[in-house]
Amino acid sequence: MKKIRLLTPGPTPVPERLSLRMAQPIVHHRSPEFEQVFARCREGLSWLFQTKQDVIQLAASGTGAMEASLVNFLRRGDEAIVVDAGKFGERWGKLAKSYGVNPVTLKVEWGNAVDPGAVAAALKEHPNARAVFVQANESSTGVAHPVEKLARVTKNHPAILVVDAISALGAFDLPFDAWGIDVMVSGSQKALGLPPGLAFLAASEKAWKLNETADLPRFYFDLKRERDNQRKNQTAWTPAISLVEGLDESLQMFREEGLQACFARHERLARGARAGMQALGLELYSKAPSAAMTTVLAPQGTDSEKLVKHLFKQYGIKLVGGQEAAKGKIFRIAHLGYFDDFDMLVVVGAVERGLKDLGAKVQLGAGLAAAQAAMAEAGAPTGPQLRG
Ligand SMILES: *Cc1c(COP(=O)(O)O)cnc(C)c1O
Repeated sequence: MKKIRLLTPGPTPVPERLSLRMAQPIVHHRSPEFEQVFARCREGLSWLFQTKQDVIQLAASGTGAMEASLVNFLRRGDEAIVVDAGKFGERWGKLAKSYGVNPVTLKVEWGNAVDPGAVAAALKEHPNARAVFVQANESSTGVAHPVEKLARVTKNHPAILVVDAISALGAFDLPFDAWGIDVMVSGSQKALGLPPGLAFLAASEKAWKLNETADLPRFYFDLKRERDNQRKNQTAWTPAISLVEGLDESLQMFREEGLQACFARHERLARGARAGMQALGLELYSKAPSAAMTTVLAPQGTDSEKLVKHLFKQYGIKLVGGQEAAKGKIFRIAHLGYFDDFDMLVVVGAVERGLKDLGAKVQLGAGLAAAQAAMAEAGAPTGPQLRG
């Protein structure tokens, strides 16, 4: 028997409690029962985004909210600074081009975080730029970009800071109002532990001001129309009803755990995963590792694609390898969402076994011992016993 275990940066495992809630008979979206659920989700999302602003819910994968964050705030021919440090940063650039926005691309070497000074310099050189697009966690490399510092850069500039927090929201701290982020997007299939299909977006006053003059084409993703509807607990179009029910339950789980305890848990898991990998003699790929995932260089002579395939075939452990330049070189362990300390022992144990199977020089148990010690040192889990 092999259990299938997902440790991928989306989709992530869905807690049983959410599955059961979503399996309930469907309700009508123009009913008082659903309106109550929707209202609770709005409130819960604002809490999770740490903002007084509306958080708009969209029936889309995360990229839908990325698209919405472009078409609702910019004008054709605008310049925008795009931080491209991996596959998802690259997506910002492609999106911009497809709508006639001119990206000023800040290429950052894969595995590195952007230097806020470089963004400040780009804005100085392009004073008409209207936005800076970045990832909070670049999922192709496991890099956390310095969002707080970037927000300080855009604060005194007409450009808005647009943050893709799809694989970051709920894994580490991104206080939207306190840091002065202008637009932040996320999705359901990452730290929220839901199936894919919901996307979320919050916008600051500064961004809503740009919305008044934005002239890019939009219909389904018209945020002004959605905001007006959602303030009445309605949606412009049919919402993804079952997923919204699941979201209500997911947000409840976050509240039971508490935001700080949740971030501390992710930090502890990250420490465990990093320590485990390093104790096996492996090198971390990310120079600015995030708490959402751990990216690792495969040992010399071992193809990481082979390792990833082997781990799934032999042990049911689903990791992902690298993309493009990192293909065959790295593997990625995601630990955002429904994971605890002992899940990290599973994955560290599996990597040890898998490497040994492939003939790499590893000492079985060395990674496990280090992961145990690192997590124990980081403290015990806090909060109530969570029913999955
Ligand atoms: C998962 C992810 C996305 C969204 O992808 P979808 O497939 O559209 O949900 C975007 N950015 C990052 C950083 C992600 O991890």
